[in-house]
Amino acid sequence: MTGATNVDVDVVVVGAGAGGLAAALAVADQGKSVVVLEKLERAGGNSALSTGSIPAAASRLQVEAGVEDSPEQMAADLLAQSGPHEAEDLTRVLSEESGPLVDWLVDTHHVELLLIKDYKHVGHSVHRLHAPPSRRGADLVRDMVTACNLAGIDILLSNPVKELITEGDAVVGVVVAGDRLEPYEIRCNSVILASNGFAANKDLVNEWLPAVSGVEYFGAHGSTGEALQWGLEQGGYLRNIGAYQGYAAVAYPHGSILSWTTIEMGAVLVTEHGGRLGDESIGYSGFAQAVADSGLPCFVVFDTRIRDHAAKEDEFAELIDAGGVRELNSIAELVDFIGADEADLSRTLESYSSAARGESEDAFGRQSFGMAPLAFPLCASRVTPGVFHTQGGLAVDDHGQVLRSDGDFVSGLFAVGGVAAGISGQSGGRGYSSGNGLLAAAGLGRLAGIAASQTA
Ligand SMILES: Cc1cc2nc3c(=O)[nH]c(=O)nc-3n(C[C@H](O)[C@H](O)[C@H](O)COP(=O)(O)OP(=O)(O)OC[C@H]3O[C@@H](n4cnc5c(N)ncnc54)[C@H](O)[C@@H]3O)c2cc1C
Repeated sequence: MTGATNVDVDVVVVGAGAGGLAAALAVADQGKSVVVLEKLERAGGNSALSTGSIPAAASRLQVEAGVEDSPEQMAADLLAQSGPHEAEDLTRVLSEESGPLVDWLVDTHHVELLLIKDYKHVGHSVHRLHAPPSRRGADLVRDMVTACNLAGIDILLSNPVKELITEGDAVVGVVVAGDRLEPYEIRCNSVILASNGFAANKDLVNEWLPAVSGVEYFGAHGSTGEALQWGLEQGGYLRNIGAYQGYAAVAYPHGSILSWTTIEMGAVLVTEHGGRLGDESIGYSGFAQAVADSGLPCFVVFDTRIRDHAAKEDEFAELIDAGGVRELNSIAELVDFIGADEADLSRTLESYSSAARGESEDAFGRQSFGMAPLAFPLCASRVTPGVFHTQGGLAVDDHGQVLRSDGDFVSGLFAVGGVAAGISGQSGGRGYSSGNGLLAAAGLGRLAGIAASQTA
């Protein structure tokens, strides 16, 4: 299988996010040796910045909660959101894998995840998202690092991988080098690339994802895309490269997520001119492009009932504490905060309320209104659009092994998470279902870890 002769370790994992940590745990479970190399001084990457939500069908937690679901239903939901794309088999594989993944994280490795029953979020027909109680990815990463420590897995921080070592057609190791680190090599049977996508690399975004080149990136700085380039150098090719996870409502200037639960519970998004941009219920990722294209300061308007409902989420509660949500007792105060013309803003809100009461069609076709019509006291937050991560990447097989354009695969090389082709469609942010990022990271990470162990 591989050209490696004297190996230092069975498997090298590049990147200590959810994808890399899941891969490493899976390798250790199989009794093989593994090391995780992380270029930054801490583990976590984008996974630690996320809300830690992983979708899973037929998990133990879902079954216990009486939620009827199946991998087939999940795959159908994800494909309905993404539309046709270049990695549809991966959607089906990851839907199958999702339940076992969450059971394994919770029951075998004691990662604390709960089934979220407050909301389904984008792309899911049933309650399927599993997240830490705090809904913070940092807690997911913390628990996964603890599990790695218990399994005796070395996670070497500030150890950036600079290049792959090859023998013939096979990948047999990596070169590690850093500013304060003498270059050294690690020889292995397999390398799992779990270093996320390229959203932090402006040049690659301009080349591969020009639609968002002007949109601010709110993810981790480590996502600079070098692993995708290594895969291409080995004969790999790209799939679904135009897809990304956007977010329509990053709180400005705070930089934290304005919970999308507000929109699902009935909030509307208006510009400083007092008008709406479309049907907000298409989701936070799909709606990001409309907000970006408007080029205008935008505001999410809701009311205190919605605020208090969403305040169960820690990050949103912190945003309230930090002054990121303004309570407004009259239309005059709202107008003053947004800067819109009073007549325009009133017309927009009245038209929306009328649709929410079922008295007229919504101007943009929105069908779900949560607790709307909104009632005073209102709340409003200024928001800006953002890119959270890229979803396209290297073509891989069902186990994450990197495929070559000649139809063969690259011996000894796996890609997961943001390095691999995602399952969010072929273009834009609209195909993203909630949790597609972590599912492709941890789900494919576990599968790749198992497969890489078998070749070791
Ligand atoms: C604010 C925010 C909220 C989100 N919420 C969700 C959510 O709730 N659910 C969901 O599914 N997705 C969410 N996402 C997306 C999700 O975070 C990513 O899809 C996921 O974390 C990717 O995991 P990963 O393991 O592939 O990458 P990461 O978690 O980014 O880990 C990659 C690691 O590799 C390291 N690395 C990079 N290059 C090298 C190198 N050369 N050598 C060594 N190490 C390297 C990086 O420093 C990083 O630590 C969110 C993203 C953001 C920004």
